[in-house]
Amino acid sequence: MTAKVDVLVVGGGNAALCAALMAREAGASVLMLESAPPEWRGGNSMHTRNLRCMHEAPQDVLTDAYPEEEYWQDLHKVTGGLTDEPLARLLIRESSVCRDWMRHHGVRFQGSLSGTLHLSRTNAFFLGGGKALVNAYYRSAQALGVEIRYQSPVQSLSLRDGVFEGVHCNGEFIAARTCVIASGGFESNLAWLREAWGPPADNFLIRGTRYNMGVVLRALLDAGADQIGDPTQCHAVAIDARAPKFDGGICTRVDCVSLGLVVNRDGVRFYDEGEDFWPKRYAIWGRLVAQQPDQIAFSIIDAKAAGRFMPPVFPGERAETLEALADQLGLPRAQVLATVEAFNQACRVGQFDHAVLDDCHTEGLEPPKTHWALPIDTPPYSGYALRPGITFTYLGVKVDADARVRFGGRASPNLFAAGEVMAGNVLGKGYLAGIGMTIGTAFGRIAGTEAARAALD
Ligand SMILES: Cc1cc2nc3c(=O)[nH]c(=O)nc-3n(C[C@H](O)[C@H](O)[C@H](O)COP(=O)(O)OP(=O)(O)OC[C@H]3O[C@@H](n4cnc5c(N)ncnc54)[C@H](O)[C@@H]3O)c2cc1C
Repeated sequence: MTAKVDVLVVGGGNAALCAALMAREAGASVLMLESAPPEWRGGNSMHTRNLRCMHEAPQDVLTDAYPEEEYWQDLHKVTGGLTDEPLARLLIRESSVCRDWMRHHGVRFQGSLSGTLHLSRTNAFFLGGGKALVNAYYRSAQALGVEIRYQSPVQSLSLRDGVFEGVHCNGEFIAARTCVIASGGFESNLAWLREAWGPPADNFLIRGTRYNMGVVLRALLDAGADQIGDPTQCHAVAIDARAPKFDGGICTRVDCVSLGLVVNRDGVRFYDEGEDFWPKRYAIWGRLVAQQPDQIAFSIIDAKAAGRFMPPVFPGERAETLEALADQLGLPRAQVLATVEAFNQACRVGQFDHAVLDDCHTEGLEPPKTHWALPIDTPPYSGYALRPGITFTYLGVKVDADARVRFGGRASPNLFAAGEVMAGNVLGKGYLAGIGMTIGTAFGRIAGTEAARAALD
């Protein structure tokens, strides 16, 4: 039996680290339990690049302004209103004041690089990416005296009427005055994904950590914590089908969809590839591919697309003829030729401009391609097989503005949650680039402060 710490933090990603640092700075003793070994510490946070920040005027790496109202409207739109406005506004305001604190703990920012310039106004990029960010936080936490235990998966919680008592981990019962749960979603739990999605889930790839098994989330829900969100809601993008089952990260994303056409296993198109700018649409393609037979699709481009998108880590299949490309991708040749022919015939080419919603579109084609529709006619042709890549799930526990977990509508006096495990409070569906790290930073900082206050009171 370990001596009782003030604040126990469950998890080892951005939300957990923010909570641990804030609690320690407030004078509490802090113990952090991370499932992963040191070399895999940091959860999905280690794969990230940026966070979305409100600001009223240009600030170091952020251009122009991104005021609260515009941020709120963007969030409201992508979630279709499935968001808690007071919590969302709290998050947005917190995003305007966290960066000096982040710098103080060693995080460095950089301006947007080519391919991400459209985010220069809204998103602050981490120099060295999320890996550098979590490493900086771990260094700072160690220097401040946060106790960190790796390979320490929490198996169960001890709760009495919403009051936290302790956790079971590696055969030990660890008691604490307060606890912050920051153990991510359940995206790495393939059996739970299958429960939510059925057999198609077997073909999903997980873009991030293998350690977000949802064990603590399940324990909380079983113990009567109020649930938020639906198990099928998640962030899912189309990624290269050759990506590993876990931890492929951002380099497996295939970003040429809006420059060509996409067919399913049968060689048939199924969605408007040019519906909107790619940064606004990339996060719907995981779900679209998940709905296709065998959960596979193929992005086909011609030489005109070369150099217009960030190339994925694996080179695509390449051929001088569409027949050869279809063969290489294992697609029915005749149907692919018919699909491309129908598409080419339907193209009404105007002034091609990938930086605006241009007037190149199809006519009389179902589904249409509403922008950037150019005939696929210039060899060499390239193709990428796509699979649904799950980024993170939104099912979670309800919290209040102090990040306290709610049980039957009542806030727990000493149990808090931050990050993916409560993301569903503000993200009922859809996604805004960079808001995952904002949720973990804002609610991690709040949870750490409030947990320390509750423990030291
Ligand atoms: C490839 C990729 C790119 C992304 N890019 C961005 C981006 O640029 N910007 C952005 O905002 N978001 C991005 N996201 C989303 C972002 O990663 C998450 O929203 C954010 O990192 C969540 O932080 P978290 O601390 O809640 O979870 P995580 O960082 O996933 O941390 C969860 C932690 O809990 C630990 N854990 C799990 N179960 C247990 C247990 N039972 N006991 C103890 N520990 C446990 C895990 O090991 C892990 O350390 C990206 C995600 C991926 C996969």
